[in-house]
This record gives sequence, C-alpha cells and structure tokens, in this order.
Amino acid sequence: MSQDTREFLEKLKSTVGVAGELAQQGLDAAGKAAVEAWDTAKLRWKKAEVQGDVQRLYREVGRLIYKAHTDKEAQTDGLDDLFAALDEKTAQVEAYKQELRARRGEALCTTCGAKIGDGDAFCRRCGEKIKPKTEETTGDGGGV
Ligand SMILES: [Zn+2]
Repeated sequence: MSQDTREFLEKLKSTVGVAGELAQQGLDAAGKAAVEAWDTAKLRWKKAEVQGDVQRLYREVGRLIYKAHTDKEAQTDGLDDLFAALDEKTAQVEAYKQELRARRGEALCTTCGAKIGDGDAFCRRCGEKIKPKTEETTGDGGGV
C-alpha cells in the first residue's frame, strides 16, 4: 500500500468515526480485499463529505426560514438556491448509498431504492416489478 493510501486511511479514520473499522481493515487486509475495502472506504468518505454539505445546507435553510419568521422584511431569495443545492447533494448521497449497497451485493429496487429479497418478483415497498438479474444494457439497438 502506498504512503498516500496509508495517509488517506489514517485521515479517514480520524475524520469519519463510523468508517474507522473499515479504514483499519484497509490497512490490515491484503491484495484484492484491500483494494475493495479501499474503494469502499473512499466511497464512504465521499458520501460522508456530501452528507456534511447537506447538513450545512439544512442549517442555512433553517436560518433563513427562521429569519423570515422573526423578521417579516427579511430576504429569503437565497432559499431557492439552497433548495437546488440540496436536491443535488441529496441525489449524490443517494447515488453513493446505492453504490455502497451494490458493493455489498444487495439488490435494490430501481424505482424506490428499497432492498429486494432473493426471489422477490415485486418490490415490497413500491410494488415495482423486479427485473431478473441479467447483464442488461440500455434498451435500444441489438434485436434479432
Ligand atoms: Zn420499490
């Protein structure tokens, strides 16, 4: 493992508490497992970072709304930008979560993201039909 990687994992350990164990695994494991743990650790870090952004945005939104409540003259124009940023960051977090779940080998509903049990034909949350596990690329093209 490179010095760089080691440093990153050490930093990760001190920065993101929950990932500490994973970072430790990254330090201890060897070969392929290490690379996978490392990729997952990076993903977890990125997710935690974006989640931090989301928390900051929530606080900012709260501040503006409370300001509008206490001071009727207060400007709340900034809210739309904050909401747009929140939409984006929330989608990012969701994408990271999905990828992390996929790494754990969990099947997910493509519509609502709920976990899908083995052999389920429909999503237990939203009722979406589950596509069988195949290497399916985008619909068009090919054909017989
Ligand atoms: Zn669903």
